[in-house]
Amino acid sequence: MTTREDCVAADRKDPLAPLKVRFELPPGVLYMDGNSLGVMPKGAAARAAGVITQEWGKDLIRSWNTAGWFELPVRLGDKLGSLLGAREGELVVTDTTSLNIFKALAAALRIQQQKQPSRRVILSERDNFPTDLYMIQGMIDLLEQGYEMRLIDADLPLDKALDDSVAVMLLSHVNYRSGQMHDMASVTALAHQRGALTIWDLAHAAGAVPVDLNGANADFAVGCTYKYLNGGPGSPAFIWVAPRHTQDFWQPLSGWWGHTRPFDMAVAYEPAGGIRRYLCGTQPIVSLSLVECGLDVAKAADMAQVREKSLALGDLFIKLVEERCAAHPLKLVTPRDHALRGSHVSFLHPNGYEVMQALIARGLIGDYREPEVLRFGLTPLYFGYADVWDAVDILTDVLDTRAWDKPEYQQRSTVT
Ligand SMILES: *Cc1c(COP(=O)(O)O)cnc(C)c1O
Repeated sequence: MTTREDCVAADRKDPLAPLKVRFELPPGVLYMDGNSLGVMPKGAAARAAGVITQEWGKDLIRSWNTAGWFELPVRLGDKLGSLLGAREGELVVTDTTSLNIFKALAAALRIQQQKQPSRRVILSERDNFPTDLYMIQGMIDLLEQGYEMRLIDADLPLDKALDDSVAVMLLSHVNYRSGQMHDMASVTALAHQRGALTIWDLAHAAGAVPVDLNGANADFAVGCTYKYLNGGPGSPAFIWVAPRHTQDFWQPLSGWWGHTRPFDMAVAYEPAGGIRRYLCGTQPIVSLSLVECGLDVAKAADMAQVREKSLALGDLFIKLVEERCAAHPLKLVTPRDHALRGSHVSFLHPNGYEVMQALIARGLIGDYREPEVLRFGLTPLYFGYADVWDAVDILTDVLDTRAWDKPEYQQRSTVT
């Protein structure tokens, strides 16, 4: 694709193009931040109005039964699970990714404690998303049992780090900053061979790349619904547990929603038999309801086509940026190799923060991650080839004219 016309022609042939109309896309915006906050499905406003005015407003507390509120975390879990290689009853939509990491980590550590008590290392990656590392640190402090965190980095590769002291390994499938992707099946197989359990954080993978949790023989997985799944700001996250582990232990946030018969109002905690035991308390029904709107669009798409287009958009973006911005100090940090790449592309630039503010001012919305990283999400359900072309036009112009070099673009907002 060497002209904008080529890109327009590619959009015309794109089998996913018809799904674009199912999203609310504000005019004048090129949205390359769907990996951080997905766009609004058109059905979401009507769904929110229905939940608020009818289910809450008129039916009131009866809706726990009549509108299926009580079953919602499990029903949506089944719907989402079908996109991730999970079977019915293995996944629930609930809480935040951070909280679900806590639950999965606690359960995995308890399982290991019963089977291989001498293992005291929780393995992760130095450039994993910080909340994953913070949750590990909090767990280690809480347990006071001599656990330690070990981090894979340039000096300590996975193969060396994964020894017989590792109890649990918590990795992101797709790295939030670089977009680098692990091969879930082979990394899980290696962990199992060395006796460790795996927790996969799918925040930047769910809805973006093919995931087959059972096929990869994974142990636990967590992730967000507000990124590539377009569930809405702060929409509840998800947790999946391999059926072979579900009965081994229950998670320690043993609230009444995880009880086997919550309305018995019993004194003693008795965990539900299946994945419901990973719920804690009363669910945020309004936000949870909206998750379904995003899932319905995701389910209408063929994941193989999503993956193919995501990689093609990424290849095109990388090629055009490198051709047209060659005079500028941009450095690709995302792997070119398809097998190692998720669905966003990141470049380093010494003035990354200011450059991103200038791009946003011109209607190209990506985001910035420390240090110096310009991050561009590629969302095949609503982003096309001509959009990539137009985005590179803006980037080129902002760099060529140094439009980013203004004091107001150095002002840091709280959220970058
Ligand atoms: C976005 C993201 C999270 C977010 O966690 P929350 O608890 O939902 O704020 C966690 N892990 C990764 C890898 C992420 O990219």
